[in-house]
Amino acid sequence: MKDLLIMKFGGTSMGSADRIRVAARISMEQQRQRPVAVVVSAMSKVTDLLLESLLRAEAGDRAGLDANVQKLQDRHVECCHELLPKTKQEPVLAGIHFLISEFQRIANGMMMLADRPPRSADEAVAIGERLAALLMAAYLEAEHIHSVAINASSIIVTDAVFGNATPLMTPTREKARRNLMPWLEGGALPVITGFNGATADGRPTTLGRGGSDFSAAILAAVLDASELWIWTDVDGIMTADPRIVPDAAVLDTVTYAEAAELAYNGAKVLHPRTLAPLADRQIPVWSKNSYALDKPGTRIGMPGNTPGGARAVTSMANVALVSLEAAGAELSGTRLMARALDALTRANAEVLAVSSSSYRQNFCFLVRREELSGVMKALEETLSIELAHGYIRPISVDENVGLLAVVGEGMRGVTGLAGRIFTAISQEQVNIIAITQGSSELTICIVVRRDGLEKAVRAVHTECGLGRRVRETAVP
Ligand code: ADP
Ligand code: ASP
Ligand code: MG
Repeated sequence: MKDLLIMKFGGTSMGSADRIRVAARISMEQQRQRPVAVVVSAMSKVTDLLLESLLRAEAGDRAGLDANVQKLQDRHVECCHELLPKTKQEPVLAGIHFLISEFQRIANGMMMLADRPPRSADEAVAIGERLAALLMAAYLEAEHIHSVAINASSIIVTDAVFGNATPLMTPTREKARRNLMPWLEGGALPVITGFNGATADGRPTTLGRGGSDFSAAILAAVLDASELWIWTDVDGIMTADPRIVPDAAVLDTVTYAEAAELAYNGAKVLHPRTLAPLADRQIPVWSKNSYALDKPGTRIGMPGNTPGGARAVTSMANVALVSLEAAGAELSGTRLMARALDALTRANAEVLAVSSSSYRQNFCFLVRREELSGVMKALEETLSIELAHGYIRPISVDENVGLLAVVGEGMRGVTGLAGRIFTAISQEQVNIIAITQGSSELTICIVVRRDGLEKAVRAVHTECGLGRRVRETAVP
């Protein structure tokens, strides 16, 4: 289909009747010029509420579960009342009640089992996106735009890694052709749930927290869209998280590789896996602010005239550093590393940074804190004999750390930059624990003490001349 535009609206852009109206208006305007498909997140904070409800169900907390379900219902019913004329509300309210009863059915099952099977959790948590899609499609219809709410479990086919599934692009492309294309060809503006999919045999899955960006990218890739626009609550991709660095500036353009490095190293504005399906096909992405429609946003695409030096600084606070050390000559450091990486693969954990010492035959690696218990279990199982025989020292874990990353294609070969960055951090009296540089020279990762992380981010941001004030004064 020629000139297809995919647009994704995040939680805050869908967070109230007013916000849904704005999102719908943006979609309608674009659809006047070309075919459009929309991907939506759950209303802001709904996914957290659903996940917390499931924890309560598992713990047998009936009162807590019921109170949360009531909150969920009130929010969506109220939104429906505010969004739609009275005459159009009834079928939508019925849809909301149906979806909430589905959630209750799953949560009640968990309460009975005192367990939270990942597959059922994925089915339950995607109900937030289904509620949002229902409301948006109903509003578009009320505005006389031919629309339909589509559950992405009928389109996006994934593996069976519940909670963090990976799409299978060939069957997804087939399903998109079958279940989505006819709507677009018929002139409709489909509203598709972000975040979820299903295995080939129909078991519901989700793509990881913040996964609606990834859903939109998957659909853009399989439909060969001409562009993807990701609508959020900031003016685009910035030189740092504006909540940490008030002086952060919006970047006009970034490359796919830069955006991916930023996302993988903690810039929440994009889900880390968003860019891969798009870069392959060179589909341009725009990050835009649904609260400031006059702002152009950031264009993510192929490298052009890359500006020199660093482009942005990111950080991750919820990480842990795991260290392993061989106790003697019985076990080589290389072998220890191989065994440990094997354990990490089995735990389905991602290694964010690695550092090693050949002399001491030790190495340490950084993982997300939420993955730590799975990582430790897998390491202790895999290395149980070595631990029992004392071939390796007890595994040590440091949770009082944070990751800082400096990203920029233009950093390649800039002499002295790393030294300036380390000095800036040290001048803030923040301890540097480990340093790694990706082989692409695109990113320098630095592990620092957790309590100095934000200070270090601000210092590096200033040292690299990334702030708004610096840039504005630099313009002639
Ligand atoms: P959405 O709900 O629209 O998906 P998110 O909350 O997931 O939005 O992502 C947007 C947020 O990402 C912003 O509000 C901002 O605080 C945060 N953020 C972190 N790093 C960056 C960055 N480098 N550029 C822009 N925003 C960032
Ligand atoms: N609603 C999901 C989440 O909060 C997915 C998303 O918003 O992208 O993680
Ligand atoms: Mg997001």
